[in-house]
Amino acid sequence: MTTPILEVQQLSKRYGDVVAVDGVDLSVSEGEIFGILGLNGAGKTTMVECAQGLRRPDAGSVRLLGRDPRRERSALASRVGSQLQDSNLPERMRVSEAVKLFADRRVSKGAVAEWGLEELWDKSFGSLSGGQRQRLFIALALVNEPEIVFLDELTQGLDPSARRVVWDLVKRIRDRGTTVVLVTHFTDEAEILCDRVVVMRHGGLVAHGSPSELVEQHGPGVGMTFTDSEADAADLRSICGVRSVGLSGDHVELRGDRRMLAHVGAHLVEQSRARRTPVPDDLHVDEPSLEDAVLELIGPGTPERSSVA
Ligand code: ADP
Repeated sequence: MTTPILEVQQLSKRYGDVVAVDGVDLSVSEGEIFGILGLNGAGKTTMVECAQGLRRPDAGSVRLLGRDPRRERSALASRVGSQLQDSNLPERMRVSEAVKLFADRRVSKGAVAEWGLEELWDKSFGSLSGGQRQRLFIALALVNEPEIVFLDELTQGLDPSARRVVWDLVKRIRDRGTTVVLVTHFTDEAEILCDRVVVMRHGGLVAHGSPSELVEQHGPGVGMTFTDSEADAADLRSICGVRSVGLSGDHVELRGDRRMLAHVGAHLVEQSRARRTPVPDDLHVDEPSLEDAVLELIGPGTPERSSVA
């Protein structure tokens, strides 16, 4: 692991009776895209606001680029970029004006092109689509070439093609060496973009690791389905790697670890030879996703306290 660029230890924050963040430890390494996943109300925004020194935690410590983000905010200002949820600009402000307002240095044409703002340069903020606004907010977070950037729910409300444009931009930010902390409740976004993620629930962390580690450790395993009118549940259950067998008429559904794929394949070939029947031609493999793993961890939309957005 490289140097931690953000280190959070035993961080807690409450609002009255609501414990928003509850004893969280995490460490973000230089150059990675680090995802903070969880349902609305899990405490993600509060945590990153504390990490940036925008809120005072009740307990715990934060080191951002080796400094205390509350006491040393001015020293960190140009080294940290943030795109917060409530970003908003006057409707009549032009894109060029907004970029110049936020920039503490000259903005190069290359940077404007990289952010995809060339054709929007003279447009007013009010005339931009959702995706174009997000591109602008990301650009404003990057305009001073920070070492770390915090992006919060950056594709909320965007259509699939606009999301992809924003994802490509985030990958390019990381490829240039900027560390990215990405707050999201979209598991597909985290799976595509993040090197490592933590999953938050009720203010605490319930899992951490790379998306593939989380899928491996917490996912439901791989699935296989096919049709076999003579399927025998006990027979299938005895195959190496198979954990569960579902039979419904001639529809077979198996779940298990990855070894199952080879063993079930071999079993079906052997069986077709013995029975002198063709192998099933509708064999389907279902790879678990990060979403499946997160659902196992936090349940399907388990409510996060009462006051969720
Ligand atoms: P997330 O970003 O995961 O949606 P938040 O950090 O926004 O979670 O919220 C965590 C909890 O703290 C929620 O129950 C939310 O209602 C509450 N909360 C957030 N901000 C405030 C605030 N300023 N005052 C009171 N409660 C708040």
